[in-house]
Amino acid sequence: MVLPILTVTALVALVVVHLRWRQKYFLARESARVEFAAFQQEHQRAAGQIQTQQTALFDSMIEGLLLLDEHGKIQLANRAFAGLFGTASDLRGRTVLEVLRQHELTDLLTRVATEKQVDGYDLKLGGLNERWLQVNAAAITGAGGNPQGTLLVFHDLTRLKQLERTREEFVANVSHELRTPLSLIRGYVETLLDGAKDNPEVATKFLETIHRNSGRLQFLIEDLLTISELESGRLKMTLQPVALRPLVEKVLEDFKTQAAAKRVTLVNELPELAASADANRLHQLLGNLVGNAIKYGRPEGSVRILALRTDDGMIQICVRDDGPGIPAESLDRVFERFYRVDKARSRDQGGTGLGLAIVKHIVQGHGGKVWVESEPGQGAAFYFTLPEEKASLSV
Ligand code: ADP
Repeated sequence: MVLPILTVTALVALVVVHLRWRQKYFLARESARVEFAAFQQEHQRAAGQIQTQQTALFDSMIEGLLLLDEHGKIQLANRAFAGLFGTASDLRGRTVLEVLRQHELTDLLTRVATEKQVDGYDLKLGGLNERWLQVNAAAITGAGGNPQGTLLVFHDLTRLKQLERTREEFVANVSHELRTPLSLIRGYVETLLDGAKDNPEVATKFLETIHRNSGRLQFLIEDLLTISELESGRLKMTLQPVALRPLVEKVLEDFKTQAAAKRVTLVNELPELAASADANRLHQLLGNLVGNAIKYGRPEGSVRILALRTDDGMIQICVRDDGPGIPAESLDRVFERFYRVDKARSRDQGGTGLGLAIVKHIVQGHGGKVWVESEPGQGAAFYFTLPEEKASLSV
């Protein structure tokens, strides 16, 4: 009788222990599952954060960046790349050729596969939006040296190339401008030495030409120095309150003889306004515009200077003539260095081709804008803006 009772008790105890153990096991399993889910979530969050940081880092680069996998498929292209080539931002899974249609890049990829690293590869993109790029490419390899992809970095050299081109053109223009009066001077001096000096009448004519051309050289060199000072940023504008009407009066006074010779009337129509400006530079700027208006305006015509206050705290000044004006296709170009509508006429009048480029620099140095309006046959009107001086003037 004792034995069955013991057996039953042992069985019951066993069942209880088993049930307890099962409960503990399920509790432990559940807690492990919850912990694992939390870990997974944390891992995903961290991975997402790294991805966002990586994208932000790549997108903040000025250079275009392209990452290809071992099959040549795009894995990543940053914002600068999309901007350079005008592509969509998500290019994943596509090939370089599909996206860019640049066969030079396929050649570059072939080279990288064998050379592992290619630096300074020049790539020129044609079309309307011409661009010069330099590409650095590197093969990415795994621990065992097996290929894992390619990294391409695109540097945009367009602006540098354009600056280089502008500088070359400038040097060529300056040389040409200097050569013309210089060879005239030499020619006339040689003729004088060869005997023309013995004929006083001829000698006087030749000396006048030499004098005129040496004057041209001097103007050109002075304008070149001004342009170089203005462009280098070395020259600081000394802004002070300037009463405009008296300043314009002084400028017109400088041109009295020149205007009288062409019977041109000079009219100062400025109201009492004051600008915050560099008085000497403003004098030079107005002198260039008034000088041009007399030079290129019509004989017996008029040159007027007007001004008004604009809504944005600026003063707009206008120098207007009633001459032949400027053709529409040249309106945007007259402010370029050495640009002339009529080369022969400008040179005859002693022009250097730099006057309006200087005007543009001075206006921009004051934070203003400059432009020209003209209807052929109706004269030209040059406008520029300057900041208004609000304080009362003691000038
Ligand atoms: P330049 O020394 O030849 O006068 P500028 O830079 O002062 O050089 O002017 C550039 C060109 O703009 C001139 O050669 C001329 O063709 C044109 N231009 C300037 N002002 C006038 C004007 N008031 N009327 C007609 N053409 C003008």
